[in-house]
Amino acid sequence: MFTKKNKIEVNAILDTQIEEVLKKTSQYEDFIEGKLTCSSCGSIMNNQNIGIMLPVESGTKIKFYCDRMDCVEQYKLDHE
Ligand SMILES: [Zn+2]
Repeated sequence: MFTKKNKIEVNAILDTQIEEVLKKTSQYEDFIEGKLTCSSCGSIMNNQNIGIMLPVESGTKIKFYCDRMDCVEQYKLDHE
């Protein structure tokens, strides 16, 4: 089985997964409306800047960190 994927396909799959996950946690509306923010710097999350999606509260909510280096580092500090 070949798993040749270009970047565009990977992003498309990722976007769909984000949508599915957020619909399960009832956060999809907030995401669309720009109400979900990075837990570190407070940037509004969108399809382009999601760095880390972390399930919290027994997986009923998702906590976000954006893809800035500082924020990924903050995530590591918080969870290691
Ligand atoms: Zn951030």
